[in-house]
Amino acid sequence: MSDADQKITGFDLWYLSLPVVSARDHGIGRVNGTCEVVVLRLTSEGGETGWGEASPWVVFTGSPEATFAALDRYIRPLVLGRIVADREKIMLDADRAVAHCTEAKAALDTALLDLAGRISNQPVHALLGGKCRDTIPLSVSLANPDFAQDRALLDRLRQDGVRIVKLKTGFRDHAFDLMRLEALAQDYPEFAVRVDFNQGLPSKEALARVRDVATFRPDFIEQPVRAPHYELMAQIREAIDVPLLADESVFGPEDMSRAVREGICDGVSIKLMKSGGFSRAQAVAKMAASHGLGVYGGDMFEAGIAHLAGTHLIAATQAIDLGCEFYQARYYLAEDILETPFPCKDGHVQVPDAPGLGIRPDIDKLDHYSIARGRAA
Ligand SMILES: [Mg+2]
Repeated sequence: MSDADQKITGFDLWYLSLPVVSARDHGIGRVNGTCEVVVLRLTSEGGETGWGEASPWVVFTGSPEATFAALDRYIRPLVLGRIVADREKIMLDADRAVAHCTEAKAALDTALLDLAGRISNQPVHALLGGKCRDTIPLSVSLANPDFAQDRALLDRLRQDGVRIVKLKTGFRDHAFDLMRLEALAQDYPEFAVRVDFNQGLPSKEALARVRDVATFRPDFIEQPVRAPHYELMAQIREAIDVPLLADESVFGPEDMSRAVREGICDGVSIKLMKSGGFSRAQAVAKMAASHGLGVYGGDMFEAGIAHLAGTHLIAATQAIDLGCEFYQARYYLAEDILETPFPCKDGHVQVPDAPGLGIRPDIDKLDHYSIARGRAA
């Protein structure tokens, strides 16, 4: 069978615990040892497969356990027996059936698109409206509590042609942040620097600390204060002449609309794991761009399937113009899960043109890192 009228007959899950190479500190939490993601495989009656990944972070979007249950218990019965081409209806049903759990819905949407692309012999970006770029500038985040290790990473990035880094700040004292910004300016001048507080600043200290950081003229400063503190975000934006980005404050189009109305940011970080699917992510991006805001391709602690999903989103969405941070597969996981490496060259992610997402996961690796399987497995 070759058309998208095929029914979905298989729904398989792998709950993975993936070792990482170092600790990472962010304003709102730490990652160390492993990160946990959920991989979904849909199978059509013709035997084609489509893959998706959910990459939650418990302090940001939600827990991997909730993600796994959302897919395994509540979304599975909505999907089995449905027509592959019914993607929009299936996504609406998933939205009604499970509140929140945006990562689970992102995985479902990705797998539906990958499956439709495999069946119709088209890349996912073609199904999202067509490709508007072939490469995406890659930003790698620096978040190691041991800055000597980040210096070693910077040397590797320099060799690899990466020219954008994002410094994670606000997890220790102000002097530590300023020391690292000085070091970047002095010793790594070829890198464009961005700064992300991940909500880490206490409200009373936020304005003064962000002002100091702004004197280093980073490309942008991201989410200095807690997600609901829109008023403070707007005050900080007024007080600095460096662009302020919203990340945790903006999950979907509803937040974006309020963010524009209240003037909290000059740009936004888009993530499929926040929006819960491609249509909502593209809606956020287009809304932001129509108000003159910059749009950045952010991510969570992801493996290669989620990176590929984000790559196709950005490839097909002109508004996402500030590059991406799909670095974990190459620079943070001890081993990624794809059959071939996530495609990066000279500091840019390369957009795949093969059908679907373009690369499949390696099932041996999924089995190796799996700590739970779904009901039908
Ligand atoms: Mg961020």
